[in-house]
Amino acid sequence: ASDKPHMNLAIIGHVDHGKSTLVGRLLYETGNVPEHVIEEYKKEAEEKGKGTFQFAWVMDSLAEERERGVTIDIAHKKFDTDKYYFTIVDCPGHRDFVKNMITGASQADAAVLVVDGSEGIMAQTKEHVFLAKTLGINELIVAVNKMDNVDWNEDDYNKIEAEVDKLLKMVGFKPGEVQYVPISALEGGNIAEESENTPWYDGPTLLEELDDLSRPESPVDLPLRVPIQDVYSISGIGTVPVGRVETGEIRPSDKVTFNPSQKSGEVKSVEMHHEEVPKAGPGDNIGFNVRGIGKDEIRRGDVCGHSDNPPTIVDEFKAQIVVLQHPSAITAGYTPVFHAHTSQVACTITNIDKKMDPKSGEVKEENPDFIKAGDSAVVTVKPQRPMVLEKVKEIPQLGRFAIRDMGQTIAAGMCIDLTPRE
Ligand code: GDP
Repeated sequence: ASDKPHMNLAIIGHVDHGKSTLVGRLLYETGNVPEHVIEEYKKEAEEKGKGTFQFAWVMDSLAEERERGVTIDIAHKKFDTDKYYFTIVDCPGHRDFVKNMITGASQADAAVLVVDGSEGIMAQTKEHVFLAKTLGINELIVAVNKMDNVDWNEDDYNKIEAEVDKLLKMVGFKPGEVQYVPISALEGGNIAEESENTPWYDGPTLLEELDDLSRPESPVDLPLRVPIQDVYSISGIGTVPVGRVETGEIRPSDKVTFNPSQKSGEVKSVEMHHEEVPKAGPGDNIGFNVRGIGKDEIRRGDVCGHSDNPPTIVDEFKAQIVVLQHPSAITAGYTPVFHAHTSQVACTITNIDKKMDPKSGEVKEENPDFIKAGDSAVVTVKPQRPMVLEKVKEIPQLGRFAIRDMGQTIAAGMCIDLTPRE
């Protein structure tokens, strides 16, 4: 395999507008549904008197098999185009989707918004669009689906495109960030190949549009950040912190700083899978030996970075949060525990700056007295102990957090601005 860049793709849109069908279709068209699976279905289709092999029937059968507990391994949901490897980011329930995206568990680089061509914009269309924008997805492909249901009518398509365009502009997407395409996930058409039913459409197919997305910034090019999971002292070697490189690269003889402990030293060696390596990058789980730092001087929750661009210790920050669940209301003064990278720090929400309509992103109220489950808000936060956090725009991997209290995840959020500690 070549080294095509990797993209995480979210498929968003209102329930029943065709997201799963489209995922199945993309896997099928790119040759990612195993041949033997297709053969089996073809055979079964014939046996059951369905003359022609129908894609829809494959999808329905897959769903049925899932219910019967038979798993066919298309679970990984990966496919590739000429330029990219794509992984479909799962967004099953709305809440999980929000939580996963915001904590970075399934950070998407781009999204396909599926809109039923006969229904147009519905509640979750708006909600997902707003969330996608808030969570940093800047490129969107709008697949106007089920065009077969409206006889591939050009006027219907134009009407939906205009409606969606208005919504996207309101939420803050710019014209160059959005592409449209009329498709039928069920029958095919403008997905891998141009549809004969759309002589009025001369734009690219969906796969071409996917290929045309701009390349996401690689975490290798960002400053070095290694959140520390544990620190060991190994006799004959010295202090060995371990953690996963989130961004940047680390090499022997690098000068590094651990914050918020504010201890600096020099990297002597970097180990991965018990072997010394000349360098490590994003995704690598490493242990590294540092000269000049004692075992008790650094700890879990510290973040290691290069001394000339050390991890930011925050005095105060502004966060965009979504409240997932809370038994009552959140007011200023509330001090739950913020979980960011490997740290857990009690932080006080000192002010609720504004409350937004989660469906549109419009500001509903400035300085509200409280927020509750389902609300989206911008808040001012003061950590009770020194902690490292970065602006999500600068280092996304270090800008997200979950807020927990009483054994539950209360909210998820990201740091949109900060005041560093002097
Ligand atoms: P999801 O809830 O967004 O994942 O929607 P599904 O993929 O489960 O699709 C919902 C229903 O719409 C199913 O019955 C699909 O067979 C049907 N469907 C999906 N795409 C198309 C399409 O392009 N044309 C038609 N006619 N039906 C479709």
